[in-house]
Amino acid sequence: MENLSGNSEIAERFGDLHPPLTAQAAIAEANRCLNCFDAPCMGACPTHIDVPRFIGKIARENLRGSALTILDANVLGASCSRACPVEVLCEGACVLHRYNKKPIEIARLQRFAMDAFHRAGGRLPLKSAEMRAEKIACIGAGPASLACAAELRQRGFAVTVFERRALPGGLNTYGVAEYKLPARASLEEIELIQALGVEFRYGVEIRTQADLDELEREFDRIFLGVGLGAARRLGIPGDEHRDVIDALEFIARYKTAHPPQVAQSVAVIGAGNTAIDAANAARRLGAENVAILYRRSERHMSAFAFEYEHAKQEGVQFQWRVIPVRIHVDASGIKSLECAQARVNEAGVLEAVEGTAFHFDCQQILYAIGQSPLLELLSSVRGIELSNGRVAVDRATGLTSNPKYFAGGDCVNGGREVVDAVADGKRAGVAVAQAFEVVHA
Ligand code: SF4
Repeated sequence: MENLSGNSEIAERFGDLHPPLTAQAAIAEANRCLNCFDAPCMGACPTHIDVPRFIGKIARENLRGSALTILDANVLGASCSRACPVEVLCEGACVLHRYNKKPIEIARLQRFAMDAFHRAGGRLPLKSAEMRAEKIACIGAGPASLACAAELRQRGFAVTVFERRALPGGLNTYGVAEYKLPARASLEEIELIQALGVEFRYGVEIRTQADLDELEREFDRIFLGVGLGAARRLGIPGDEHRDVIDALEFIARYKTAHPPQVAQSVAVIGAGNTAIDAANAARRLGAENVAILYRRSERHMSAFAFEYEHAKQEGVQFQWRVIPVRIHVDASGIKSLECAQARVNEAGVLEAVEGTAFHFDCQQILYAIGQSPLLELLSSVRGIELSNGRVAVDRATGLTSNPKYFAGGDCVNGGREVVDAVADGKRAGVAVAQAFEVVHA
């Protein structure tokens, strides 16, 4: 855990993308907010944080009150203030755009309030003084499970979180670029949930029907917050080489372990936000030449426009309509990635154009072309319906077709933002609590 214990090289190379506001700047920014009656910023947030309310409290220098307003809607308000794509969420919806003015810096204000709360040793409040007998298990310690666990614990339920890795937080700890959200900040935030009395069991992988049977005997309800499974591989000759690396694994390694050795020239396959984060990281870790290769055109890329612009500023190159065909290696390592130009054929299928082969010289290849669902686990849960590998749930409650199980986050939505997972987890936590409250009324 070299980086978590304070690797100064990583800290230096991955400095804050959006540095914190000073107190003076925060109050000035808070006073620009129009406190809109219909607050479109609030509607654009999946967790519906009361934005004008928390900003108003900053303007009145009530930082604890501001943080509690945020936490009431979103228990991971600190990490979301750093990791959310606010340009397409709250800040993108701010009415000031209509007047050709800069939108309110909602994310930086949210971070300002949350940083002050953490510095002051703030604690999450309980929502019920009553301790309940029912026990809830959350599988996975990512954002969806954390939000579900916190909500239920705040309402007096006994909650245990099972996590296969050594640290909690899921993507927040292992997968968000360090210049947005350092792993250390993710873990500090989770300490608030641990302090509530949620039990965390690490290094425990729930995988089989027998594992689930045991949980079903011990717990009254089970929340599936398991995220997604293994990264999809390239499936071309040479892709078993040790320097062909899953981009998420590459990010996790530099965030929570020894920084990986980065080659002089790196090819990144895929054009989503993970590909961008990995490409930027490769640049910051010392690669001279980093190129994102994508089989379709610029307008088809799934990365946000601001991430694309950021990557260009970091010096990442882009090559469009390119299909990787073969990885050439010799005894010293990868020599090049053979590619061909791509086109869509008459049947609407992408194919390599004959006679267009070229070699991209590189010594390392990072792939970010999606993840498979965790089918082994999900298909072991008796009586839950899957749709395209995703758990089918009632969207308002997260209830699956098995009344013992709720689910949320990436295993339901196929892979969206951290804030979507938090919203799912909280909704499920509320629904579980209400179900028991009705039974006992
Ligand atoms: Fe403030 Fe903008 Fe939200 Fe209006 S839309 S309440 S100005 S942040």
